[in-house]
Formats: sequence, C-alpha cells, structure tokens
Amino acid sequence: MGIFKRSRMRLTIAYSIVMFVFLSALISLVYKAMDWSIFSEQEKEIREMAENIATTQNYYNQRPDLSFDENQIYRNSNDRLFFYIFDENRRLLSFSRATFRIEPFILDVISKWSLRENSVGIFAKANEQGRSTRVMMTSRKIDGGRVPQTVYVGKDVTALYSGMQKAIYIMIFLAFIALILSLIFGYFLAGRAMKPIEQAYERQRQFAADASHELRTPLAVVMASADLLMNDPSIQNPFLKQVIEDVRDEVKKMTRLVSDLLTVIRSENNALSLNIQRFDLSQIIEQQVRIMQPLAEQKQIDLRSIDLESVEVPCDEQKMKQLVLILVDNAVKYTPDGGSVTVKMWQSRGRVNFSVEDTGIGIKPEDREKIFDRFYRVDKARSRAMGGNGLGLAIAMEIVQLHQGEIDVESEFGHGTKFIVSLRTKLKGGI
Ligand code: ADP
Repeated sequence: MGIFKRSRMRLTIAYSIVMFVFLSALISLVYKAMDWSIFSEQEKEIREMAENIATTQNYYNQRPDLSFDENQIYRNSNDRLFFYIFDENRRLLSFSRATFRIEPFILDVISKWSLRENSVGIFAKANEQGRSTRVMMTSRKIDGGRVPQTVYVGKDVTALYSGMQKAIYIMIFLAFIALILSLIFGYFLAGRAMKPIEQAYERQRQFAADASHELRTPLAVVMASADLLMNDPSIQNPFLKQVIEDVRDEVKKMTRLVSDLLTVIRSENNALSLNIQRFDLSQIIEQQVRIMQPLAEQKQIDLRSIDLESVEVPCDEQKMKQLVLILVDNAVKYTPDGGSVTVKMWQSRGRVNFSVEDTGIGIKPEDREKIFDRFYRVDKARSRAMGGNGLGLAIAMEIVQLHQGEIDVESEFGHGTKFIVSLRTKLKGGI
C-alpha cells in the first residue's frame, strides 16, 4: 500500500474514532439528562404523596374515633402509585394496592427495606420473560399512633424506563448510521485533502527521477575522462595523479547514489518491472559472497556462507543479487578488521530464509526501526567514509516487499547484527 493510501486510511480511522468518542459521550450525556429530568419529577411526586399520606394518617391516628376512609387518601393517587402503611409489628394498617403482577415483589422490597427515611430508591426485578419491572419507592415515618408506623409509597416506572431505553436504542442505531456515514465521508474527504499533496509529491518524484536520470550521462563522461587522464603517460606529477584518483572516487560514489536514487524512485512508482523466474537462491548467495571476498580479505574478515542448499525461489535475479549484496556489503562495512560475516540458509514452513550475520558494531534498539528509512544512517561520518548514502537498506526493503517476503533485524549493540530475509516459494498470483 502506498504512503498516500496508508495516510488516507489513518486519517479516516482517526476521524471515525473522534466521531465515535463524540457520539458515545453525547449519548451518555443525553441518557443522563433524560434520566435526571424524568426521574426527578417522579421523585418529587412520590415524596409529596408520602407526605400527604403521612399527614392524613397522622390525623386519623390522633382521632381513632373517626371512621377510616381509604378513598380520601386514595383519591390523591393515580394508577401507578401505590402505598402500604405498616406499624412496627409488621401489621398492615392501610394501603392502596399495587397491581397484582408486582405486589409480591413490592412486599418483598418492603420486608427488606434499608433506605433512610425520605430517600428514594429504584428497585428492579426481572420477570420470566427476561423483562425487568422497575419501581421507585420511598418511605416515611408517621407520628401519632400507639405504635410507630411507616408508609411506603411507590410508583411503577417500568414503562418510563422501557420508553427511555427504546429512545436510547434508537439513538444508538442513529449514531451507528452516523458513524458509517462519517466513515464514508471521512474517507472521501481524506482523499480530497490528499490530492494536492499527492500531486506535489508526484511532481517532486518526477523531478528527482528526471534529474537523477539526466545526471547519469555527465557522470559517465566525467568518469571516462578521469580514466583517460589516469592512463595518460604525460601526467607524472604524483599530486595530479592523486587529484585524478580522488575525482574518480567521488564520481564513483555519485554514480552509485544516482543509481540507488533511481531504483528507489522507480520502485515507488511501481515502474520497477520485475522479471520473476525461478532461481536457485544458494547460487545467488554463493556468487555474491564470492564478489565480496576481496573486500572482506582486505579487512581480514572471515566471510563465509554455510548450509547452502539448492532451492529455487521465484524472484527477479538481478534484484535478488542486489539484495544479498547490500546485506553482505553492509556486514563487511560495519564489522571491524578481523571479525566474521556468515551467510546462512534454511527452510521453514514453505519459506526459504537466509541470514547475514556479522560480529560488527551492532545497532542500538532505537535505531533498528529507522535503518530501513531512506537516507538514514546511524553514524553519518562513518557511513559516508565507507561510501554509504543511507539508501541500501531502503532498497533492500523494497526488493523484499516486491517479492512478498519479510526482512528482520536482530542486533546486540557492540557485538553484531543479523539480518534475516524470509522469501516465499510461491508468489501470490504468480509463479
Ligand atoms: P549505508 O549506505 O549508510 O550503509 P544503509 O541503508 O545500507 O545505508 O544502512 C543504514 C544504516 O544502518 C547504516 O548507516 C548503518 O548505520 C546501519 N547498518 C546497516 N547494516 C549494518 C550492520 N550490518 N551492522 C551495523 N549497522 C548497520
């Protein structure tokens, strides 16, 4: 996936997360607001009712001769309100019954009553169908009787609750749709925001590609001229010879940089045409190790390949050679004189792997992720002195990805580094 597609996906996900958090906060706020506004009214109602009943009952308690007219109290209440007056001996003195369906539950709640006087509680009980019944209840002490009395007043708020729950479900459903829409719009908008950047980037890339391409010819000319001067017998001055030698070295470095740049730019453009065929990986490794042998010998580095077995992998031969060379070249570059570099090969679960292990300077954990970035060099001075431009591993990564493989690095700082490449024996949708 290209950098722009990835950024677009990331942006879309970020938009959606923000939207999700916002909607969730909104829904829970609305829920809290609804809960508060509906239930504070109900609370007020049952508290008032409790007070009414307590006053009325108190009145009757003080005039035991008056005949008790339940309706007088009952008139205050509506269908869903109910009350029960008990004395301390659990004797029921008066009541306005709750519906038959919920009465046992209410009596149960009263028998276990633990709330303070006048505080309101909500009690819930699930019935056989899994639906819950909710009642809101309060209690109040009544004075004036021979034995202390308490009135328990309540209201069936099941319908209110389920109404509120339905409203919340609808809101969640709408929020879900809004989220999906925001995902689609987010993706669309992120795409639009990306367009100008993408175009500017493309122009830059094209410029870099053209420039590096154009640089190749003059560099080749300078190189050929320097070669010519080198071999010119009329130039005998050692200083001049040294100058020409330096020019050749610099031109060589530049030629490499330019060709690396071109590789990176082309692969990004997917213009890198791969010529995939089945090649014996062990032969490629053997050959590249042989090429590097003289350089390793210069530094008295013991460079060897072990456990090579002849296995064919689908790959672009030139690219695979380049990959092995980059890794072995780095290993030799970043290993001090007298060290060792070992290339090893093995197979596992339908994959062919090879590793390039050295006893060199190692890579710190914080640098391990970055070394695959373009132009990233841990120690710029050292890398430059060795002809590095920080593109090697970026190219290695590109090549591995083009082959649907994986590259990994293990390293102990100061002790050595191991690059591991894992390749498929069959490419998806190909050979
Ligand atoms: P360079 O051209 O600088 O070698 P690379 O992309 O090949 O660029 O590597 C990036 C950086 O990773 C190097 O500058 C070096 O610091 C580090 N590095 C790569 N290979 C090794 C290794 N085998 N041992 C230690 N450091 C390494």
